[in-house]
Amino acid sequence: MTLAISSAIIIILWAIVLTILERIIPYQKGYKIFREGYWMDLFWYTIVQSYFCGILIANIIQALDAWTGFSHFQIASKFPLIIQIIFFFLIHEIWQYWFHRLQHSNKFFWRTHEAAHATPEVDWLVGSRSHAIEILIAQTFEFAPIILLGASPEVPIIKATLDSVWGMYNHSNIRVNHGPLIYIFNGPQLHRWHHHKAYSKCGVNFATKLSLWDWLWGTAYLPEKNVLPEYGLQNPNYPSYNYLKQLILIFRPFRSKKIGSKKLASHNSFLAGSAE
Ligand SMILES: [Zn+2]
Ligand SMILES: [Zn+2]
Repeated sequence: MTLAISSAIIIILWAIVLTILERIIPYQKGYKIFREGYWMDLFWYTIVQSYFCGILIANIIQALDAWTGFSHFQIASKFPLIIQIIFFFLIHEIWQYWFHRLQHSNKFFWRTHEAAHATPEVDWLVGSRSHAIEILIAQTFEFAPIILLGASPEVPIIKATLDSVWGMYNHSNIRVNHGPLIYIFNGPQLHRWHHHKAYSKCGVNFATKLSLWDWLWGTAYLPEKNVLPEYGLQNPNYPSYNYLKQLILIFRPFRSKKIGSKKLASHNSFLAGSAE
């Protein structure tokens, strides 16, 4: 069995395990397996978009490599596989933390991210709701160094598997307690607060796999009491369950404060809400 097939099997099995755990030890009770938007997230985001973005990213990186010729030197593959994985894991974690912070602080980049925050329920599948532009930027920056530095062919597959498995775990509606490990490793215990309505603009808990960065850079938030977050965007007009609208709405004009543009502003607001 190839590593790529093993990876696909691991991801599918992990989805099944999390679905079962969400029934046995739910953090919030009353969630349905096939919640509103489930099939949209699975079909459009997880399958269709991932497929086309994957092809595009591979072509971008190939073009970069043809232009620079960096992979020819095979710098990374001179190190043991585990060292390569740890190295690329760490640099990606730091990059992803700061890119995620940018998405919450910049008007345009927020638009590439608001779909991820738009659901009133957060379960293992919600992590798939990343805009195509977000995927193209985030994953090109993630995988280009791996290819250009000539890492072993196993590295991108192992890295992609880890991304999927951890992303699904972070969003799963399960009651887990990391204990003191919460200061190092991210999980639903912290990440659910990232999706809390009140924090969607300012942002807390930006890390993906290592919560360490949030504690280190002062953005960690973990309430002491056992309380329930309220998920979703503050704007009720956002099309939370329409993939194509979510795809094109990032290109809507920014609202202008000039006199005479009221009509346009109210139109924009109606279309996508006041995320900015
Ligand atoms: Zn976010
Ligand atoms: Zn999330």
